[in-house]
Amino acid sequence: MIHRDSTMNDITNISKQIADLINKHQNFWVTTHIHPDGDGLASMLLMKLLLEQHSKNVIAIVDDHIPRKFDFFHSFHEIITDVADGRLGQPDIVFALDASNISRLGDIEKIIPKSATLINIDHHVSNDYFGDINLVVGEASSAAEVTWQVLEYCNVKMNSNVATLVYSGIICDTGRFTFPNTSARALDICSKMVSEGASSADIADKIYFRSSQSTILGLVESLSTLQFHYQGKVASMVLSNDFMCKHDHIDTEGFVDNLLAVDGTEVEFFMKEHNKDCFRVSFRSKNHVDVNEVAKIFGGGGHRRAAGATICGDAQTVKLKIVDALETFFN
Ligand code: AMP
Ligand code: MN
Ligand code: MN
Repeated sequence: MIHRDSTMNDITNISKQIADLINKHQNFWVTTHIHPDGDGLASMLLMKLLLEQHSKNVIAIVDDHIPRKFDFFHSFHEIITDVADGRLGQPDIVFALDASNISRLGDIEKIIPKSATLINIDHHVSNDYFGDINLVVGEASSAAEVTWQVLEYCNVKMNSNVATLVYSGIICDTGRFTFPNTSARALDICSKMVSEGASSADIADKIYFRSSQSTILGLVESLSTLQFHYQGKVASMVLSNDFMCKHDHIDTEGFVDNLLAVDGTEVEFFMKEHNKDCFRVSFRSKNHVDVNEVAKIFGGGGHRRAAGATICGDAQTVKLKIVDALETFFN
């Protein structure tokens, strides 16, 4: 049985509005945030599957490179990554999945026609309700969990593709069932997905056990920069743009999670220099620090235990700014 909470009425009402819009319209886009992760991609492709079961025209568009490790997701190869692609056409409805604000969609923000209805399906507490319709469930483990609830409402036909996507979205955002968002509901849904044909071993193998050699070298390099702050309560590491340029295809997703292994740390952050003097920072926390609030100081956002922001400056300055911003928690 799936556990239900007090927001269930809202979820049902909004799912009904979404189902009505699906019935009335023919042309859809589905999209997710830049630097797409397993949850965003799985949620987007789940919505595409549902719409295709209803014989709709669906374009999946993401304004970024798609990590190769998700190449087993159903219709992965149909994802368009060029916002000027001639196949896009004019959507009646645009679904944004796993994006907390419109700028997280990159340049897709600029090409959504004014006439289109924008449906925002997400689980970030920092979501700013940018859609015409907003289904935002802050307690949900993942956007895939929220999307699954819409699919269930719409009587999606189950098959192993649906099961694999739901399961993958949930494991990616729960850190393989280790983060505090690993709720009974998330586990219930995953159990159901395994019964419906998701193979937990195959999925783990595809997502986690196919890293390129450059990625592992990048992890070694990042770990070699490990520093502790505030008597070991904060751990940080950095990966330079120089290193990234020398090694192709470094996938840094999950690097920061290695810092969670250290006993006694409360906040972990990883700075990846994606352009010279511009860092994409990933924050994690274990207990009492709300890193969404910390990320917000730098114009980013996310969740209480996992958040991100882009901060520009030289490595030392950026690191000091972050350490200073954490002072209130550790002094
Ligand atoms: P990451 O550290 O990239 O795994 O991101 C952790 C969480 O923070 C994810 O839920 C992201 O969607 C969110 N996040 C990362 N960067 C940003 C940003 N610049 N603005 C808002 N949310 C972000
Ligand atoms: Mn995401
Ligand atoms: Mn997510």
